[in-house]
Amino acid sequence: MEITTLVGGCLCGAVRFEIGGAARHLCFCHCHSCRLAGGAPFVAWASVDADRFVLTRGALREHRSSQCVARGFCAECGTSITYAHEGRPDDLDVAIATLDQPNALAPACHVWVSEKLAWVEIGDGLPQFEEFGAV
Ligand SMILES: [Zn+2]
Ligand SMILES: [Zn+2]
Repeated sequence: MEITTLVGGCLCGAVRFEIGGAARHLCFCHCHSCRLAGGAPFVAWASVDADRFVLTRGALREHRSSQCVARGFCAECGTSITYAHEGRPDDLDVAIATLDQPNALAPACHVWVSEKLAWVEIGDGLPQFEEFGAV
């Protein structure tokens, strides 16, 4: 989906950001660490160009949820906003729900279904990957 500028921010408004360029790899992630980071049964992510993600207000605090993963969140309200994996340095994953217009980006697959909660029933017909899947 081609959208020139995406904007978003956290729950309390201390962090605001802008993204240039198109989003890709739209997915729902069911992995254990996304669930805990988001405080939710799964998290919807979009990958964007890491160098085109710009903070326009505030700063992200980072948490290393594994050796090669840094998760960015608002230190004031705790909203989980970004995911950066050292193995994909050009990508920054942004939580779709933090966009001002989250309906603009619909996830296209489910990843880490091997870690999905038993009571989450996927009924949307989208492709499902046991681990990380490329869509
Ligand atoms: Zn906040
Ligand atoms: Zn995940």
